[in-house]
Amino acid sequence: MSDIYDVLIIGSGPAGLSAAVYTGRANLKTLLFEGWQPGGQLTTTTVVENYAGFKDGIQGTKLMAEMRGQAERFGVEYITKDVTSVDFSKRPFTVKTDDQEYQGKTVIIATGAKPRRLGLPSEDKLWAKGISACATCDGFFFKDKTVAVIGGGDSAMEEGTFLTKFASKVYIINRTENFRASDIMLRRARNNEKVEILADKVIEEVLGDDHVTGLRLKDNQSGETSELKLDGMFLAIGHIPVTDLFKDQVELDKLGFITLKENTMTSVPGVFAAGDVSDHRYRQAITSAGEGCKASIDAKKWLAEND
Ligand code: NDP
Repeated sequence: MSDIYDVLIIGSGPAGLSAAVYTGRANLKTLLFEGWQPGGQLTTTTVVENYAGFKDGIQGTKLMAEMRGQAERFGVEYITKDVTSVDFSKRPFTVKTDDQEYQGKTVIIATGAKPRRLGLPSEDKLWAKGISACATCDGFFFKDKTVAVIGGGDSAMEEGTFLTKFASKVYIINRTENFRASDIMLRRARNNEKVEILADKVIEEVLGDDHVTGLRLKDNQSGETSELKLDGMFLAIGHIPVTDLFKDQVELDKLGFITLKENTMTSVPGVFAAGDVSDHRYRQAITSAGEGCKASIDAKKWLAEND
C-alpha cells in the first residue's frame, strides 16, 4: 500500500492546482489526480483575458501548465489517470484508480463542472470556433457582431443581457414558451433593445465550416425550419457538476453540486470541495482558484486540529 498522504486532490483545473500550490508550499504531502485530460475547462478555451496578472491575456492551456509547474516546484505529485472510486466512510480516506489505491488524511474535491451541450455533431466541430459556454470569458470577441444565447433560464437572460455590451444584436433562443428565468431577469432581457427573444425554437444544426455562420432552427408549433445568420452562439442550458463519483459519499444539492457545510468543508469532516463542483453561481477561473486556496487552508487547519 502507498504511503498515506496529507492531502489528496481530485481535479486539475484552477481550483485543484491552486489548492496544490498552497498545500505543497505548506509542506503537506500532496498527491493530485489530474485525470487523463488534465487542465479542466480552461483547456477548451483560447485566450483568457480576465485572470488577473496577465496584461495581454494568456492561453488557457498555458495558464494551466504554469499552475501545474508551480505546484510541482513545491513537491506536489501527480497521477495522470481518472479516479474510478472513492471511500470517505473511514479515515484515512481512499481514492482508487483502475489499478491502484491511495490513502489521504484529507481530500480536496475539485472535479469541476461541464457546460451542458446540445449534443449535435456540428456543435462539437465548431466548439471554440464561435461557440462558447461563457459570455464573461468570450463576449469580448464579439464586438459589433450578432450572437445567440441558447436557453431560457436565469443564465441565458444574464448572459444575453451582458453580451449586449459587445454585440450589436443578441437573440435568446428557448426551446419552449416556458421560461425558467425569474420574472425580473426575463423582463430585463426583454426591455433591452438589442435583445430579441425567440421562443419554441429547437436548434437543429449549427452552421459553418471553420466558424459559426448561423443556426438552423425548427419551430415547435409549425414544424417549419428556418436559418438565422450569426457570428457566435453561447450555450446557457445549465452545467453538469462532475460528482458521479461522490454521490453516496458526500451530500449533494438537488442539482448535483456538492453542498458545503463549514467554509469549504463538505458533509464529511476532512473532505473539502472547491471550484465549480460546489459553485453554480460564479464559475470563474479566478474564483475557483481562490476557493482552491481556501480549501487548502481549511485542510491544513483541520489536519492541525485532528491529525
Ligand atoms: P436552468 O436549469 O435554470 O435553465 C436551463 C435552461 O436551458 C432551461 O431553459 C432549459 O429548458 C434549457 N435547456 C436545458 N437543456 C436543453 C437542451 N438540451 N436544449 C435546449 N435547451 C435546453 O439553468 P441556469 O444555468 O439558467 O440556472 C441554474 C441555476 O442558477 C438556477 O437556479 C438559476 O436561478 C441560478 N442562476 C442565478 C443567477 C442570478 O441570480 N443572477 C444567474 C444565473 C443562474 P427547459 O426549461 O425546457 O428544460
